[in-house]
Amino acid sequence: MSDTRQTVSRDEALTIVDRAVSEMSIAHEKLPVRDAVGRILAEDQLSRLQLPPFNKSAMDGYAILEGDKRDKYEAHPQTILAGDSRQPELRPGLAVKVMTGAPVPDGAGRVIPVEHVTAADDTIEVMRTSKTTHICRQGEDIQVGDVVVRAGTRLGAVEIANLIGCGITEVDVYRPIRLAVLSTGNEIVDDPGKLVHGKIMNTNGPMLAMLARRYSMDVVLEESIPDNLDYTVATIRKAVECADIVALSGGVSVGDYDFVGTALNDAGLEVHFNKVSIKPGRPLTFATKPGVAVFGLPGNPVSVHIMFHVFVLRAVAGMCGGESCLREIELPLGDDFRRRKTERMEYVPARLNDDGTVSAVDYHGSAHLTALTESDGFFVVPIGTSELAAGERVTFLSLLKGRR
Ligand code: AMP
Ligand code: MG
Repeated sequence: MSDTRQTVSRDEALTIVDRAVSEMSIAHEKLPVRDAVGRILAEDQLSRLQLPPFNKSAMDGYAILEGDKRDKYEAHPQTILAGDSRQPELRPGLAVKVMTGAPVPDGAGRVIPVEHVTAADDTIEVMRTSKTTHICRQGEDIQVGDVVVRAGTRLGAVEIANLIGCGITEVDVYRPIRLAVLSTGNEIVDDPGKLVHGKIMNTNGPMLAMLARRYSMDVVLEESIPDNLDYTVATIRKAVECADIVALSGGVSVGDYDFVGTALNDAGLEVHFNKVSIKPGRPLTFATKPGVAVFGLPGNPVSVHIMFHVFVLRAVAGMCGGESCLREIELPLGDDFRRRKTERMEYVPARLNDDGTVSAVDYHGSAHLTALTESDGFFVVPIGTSELAAGERVTFLSLLKGRR
């Protein structure tokens, strides 16, 4: 079969995906904030509280009036503890002992740390002066109405803690994306007992299912399907009935037994592209029907991993009003990089070194899944570039921590 497919660039492909998924919106629901971990926020969350909620001592020490500078103070007999609401009144010459986190009395201008004074009976003598007030002012971190977490953010521990700290008990979040994972190939088996000569373990299916879990999607269907057109059409039909996103792997190239492209057409989907000038991942296929995005990912596992992050997560973000959680950072290369063919944009599995540079990991091609266990992400080699010298900056797609 000759290859008559039209090639699109990576950016054209992303634009096509963005446009298609912008019409597919996912419903949201209100959840208690702790139950929303991993979900994507549907609305900006505004603080209900001021933080700190009162002028608060940052040290164990003695609160004195604003501008009341002297060497000795009378020490008030009462100590204000964290959590106390009663406050003695300050006057010139008086110092009130306050513990870290306690509200300081009205009019306090500074707290002299206990380490800076000598206390005797009912007086304190200042041994050291410091410019710092050691008072955290009411509202200096957050004002009522300030945005605490933006819509489109995936909620992690820090976001949940901030929401709770700002008095927010319930949040509006998108329901989980329903993902169908379909692994194609006569050669793949899910049971090691069936590993006869010529067969390989299905790694794409489990990888996509685990990635789905990591990004809080619900895997609503996970099937391995043989290279058979009718079977592929029937399974795609079933998948688009129950999923928001379908991720197929394998069978998207132009081999005699690559049926995914034809099956997508036969199942009534609109195929938007099926050849992208990227390496790995050239035969990446994207199709839609109303409300559902279907990705025909290439068969090789490294391609699946990269394409999931670059394209599938992009679609997830588009459906949930956010930006892709892939973090792109410009970093210097730790080692020289060379390649022979330059007509495609290339994603190279790479390690983030301790000195802040990135280096390609030992990588034999897109079937070399173990290379990914050594990598923290990928750097991008632009079209037309054959050599990059150590120290040159590259775009690194970090998988260490998604921002969203
Ligand atoms: P294909 O795109 O179907 O020609 O597959 C490309 C390569 O990826 C072949 O070597 C396949 O055996 C391999 N492959 C396809 N699907 C999987 C899978 N689910 N798990 C592991 N390798 C796969
Ligand atoms: Mg195949």
